[in-house]
Amino acid sequence: HSNISSSSKSNDHGKDGIIDYQKSDQPWSDTVQGVLQSRFGLSTFRLCQEGVINAAIDGRDIVCVMPTGGGKSLTYQLPAVIGSKGLTVVISPLLALIWDQVRALKELGIESAMLIGSTSKEEQNAIYKRIEGSHDGARELKPEKIAKSKRLKSVLEKANAGGRLKRFVIDEAHCCSQLGHDFRPDYQRLNVLKTLFPRVPIQAVTATLSSKTLPDLLKILRLPPICDGRAANKTGTVFFSAPLFRSNLHYQVLPKPSNAKAAIEKIGSWIQLHHPGESGIIYCFSKKDADTVAESLKEWSNGEIKTGVYHAGIEDWEKEKIHVKWRKGRINCICATIAFGLGIDKGDVRYVIHHSLSKSLEGYYQETGRAGRDGQKSDCVLFYRGQDASRLATMVYSDVDGLGKLQEMIKFAQDLLTCRKIAFAKYFSASSHLSAAAWDHSDTLGASGGTVSTCGICDNCIRDPTSIITKDVTLDAWKCLKVLQNVSSNEGRVTLANLVELVRGLGGGAFGTMKQGKRGARKSSGEKASLDLESVAGGKVTLSKDDVETLLVHLSTMGYVSEYFAGTAYSVNVYVQPGPRAIRLTRLSAEDVEAGLAAEIECTFLNLKARVVKRKATSKKEGKKTLVDISDNDDKNENVPQDE
Ligand code: ADP
Ligand code: MG
Ligand code: ZN
Repeated sequence: HSNISSSSKSNDHGKDGIIDYQKSDQPWSDTVQGVLQSRFGLSTFRLCQEGVINAAIDGRDIVCVMPTGGGKSLTYQLPAVIGSKGLTVVISPLLALIWDQVRALKELGIESAMLIGSTSKEEQNAIYKRIEGSHDGARELKPEKIAKSKRLKSVLEKANAGGRLKRFVIDEAHCCSQLGHDFRPDYQRLNVLKTLFPRVPIQAVTATLSSKTLPDLLKILRLPPICDGRAANKTGTVFFSAPLFRSNLHYQVLPKPSNAKAAIEKIGSWIQLHHPGESGIIYCFSKKDADTVAESLKEWSNGEIKTGVYHAGIEDWEKEKIHVKWRKGRINCICATIAFGLGIDKGDVRYVIHHSLSKSLEGYYQETGRAGRDGQKSDCVLFYRGQDASRLATMVYSDVDGLGKLQEMIKFAQDLLTCRKIAFAKYFSASSHLSAAAWDHSDTLGASGGTVSTCGICDNCIRDPTSIITKDVTLDAWKCLKVLQNVSSNEGRVTLANLVELVRGLGGGAFGTMKQGKRGARKSSGEKASLDLESVAGGKVTLSKDDVETLLVHLSTMGYVSEYFAGTAYSVNVYVQPGPRAIRLTRLSAEDVEAGLAAEIECTFLNLKARVVKRKATSKKEGKKTLVDISDNDDKNENVPQDE
């Protein structure tokens, strides 16, 4: 391996304690540039890669946040083969990830080995011998290995004593934190690293980190506090982040029909229109959904869309087969749960579709980040319907801040105005160590506040203003809350869907009731009650079903409506009740509201006209490959029936 050459260039080391790792004037910069080309066949660095590499060579503890596909691997693979001989230990959460890395390293001629649960005793011994024999290169490990294996511990201790243990790399480091969205219990045991090897630097890399997960990560890995910007002396963890917005990703949210078949038609038409025969991922709510979506899409397209399924219920060997088929293009559309993702090494994923909401905006950002890793234009489409939010709520309500995070995701989905990039930037800068400016500038060591420019390519940036209407819905909101209040005070219980029916005057005003069970648990009484819409709310809400749903979800993000959960032994259901702010409206009379005494509530709806035309285009099979220009259509057809 190349040794670091002495160079006439100087940097700020030692002068006043200020080190700027982003600069290419480190003593080793020429060597680094040479290795980048000769060993990795690359010409230039991306994002903050060079800074991270410099800090790594300088022996620092590092946390690096870089988008998926940004090139995090290079930031530890390059330092691994530079300078003195030694061992870099990489800890990864998934077999697929480890396989990918070892394969890539092999191609680069970098010596590597993988230690996983199924590595045989003989293989393990051979690997340990190689480590002891002072070879160098990278080792890929599953995290539990380090904590559990005495033999490994002693091998690493020996390497360390001989000065050959260069660095620990924690890939997908957000898995350490229980507060993140991808917690892995094994990762918490990585606290042993700094305990056993206090002098060996740790490099933690990830694509997502929030204000809550960063301190947690530092604590779990026992890393020193983040050092302050450029005034980096040699203590403290160096923090890097790359601009998180990827300008080749086109974000959009499309309304999802409530009827499952209509939803498949719509998604299928979208794929065939925009990316026929290309690779993509469809993220689904559950294993069952993934199976159904894959099957229905295949059927709908007469096999033209070659689907595959991937979730936790699929056997490991089958998963590997799917990976291979997908890489080779024999499957183009993977219908999956979030089990599919971490470390997918496929550049040409042209679309990531969400058949259902993600649990959080972090999750959504990371899942969509799997599109377009080759830098080419790719689409990220969220098919959204308010009711999906309820379904998801049953899944996250027991997580730490699960509902709070889901609310942010819902706000994003319901927002028809804010540029998606701005929405991400706001969310991540409010909830993390990253400043909003991290979304625009790669210089992040000294990142300070700043305004973020709009992306110009997302749905909200390019939306035809006539396709949405913003309405004052204060009176409609008042009616909904009056109904909800009436239901609550009559021991009733309604789901979001029930409430939509009630306020629109359907179902004869009937709703289910409950009784107080043991320990205050509320149970269904099996009896029904009903309300008289005229006397309770002065008449029905005349918005469409979709629009009432949008309105109710909007009210729930504002605290006028809240959810509660009631379960049987087999399932949990979400019901709605008046939220903490409901009283602000319900204490007023209808006349008061009409007279403007309430704080105005505005809600943005997709324009019905635009929606009707879109439905026509996708509901006929023969129409699936024709692009319909909404504006050209004279609208004679106001009375197209709702989905269902
Ligand atoms: P991450 O782990 O951040 O998701 P990877 O390390 O897997 O991303 O890199 C994604 C892709 O980008 C890989 O195919 C890699 O070869 C490529 N890549 C990384 N760095 C560079 C670079 N400086 N120039 C060109 N391609 C790069
Ligand atoms: Mg990676
Ligand atoms: Zn935008």
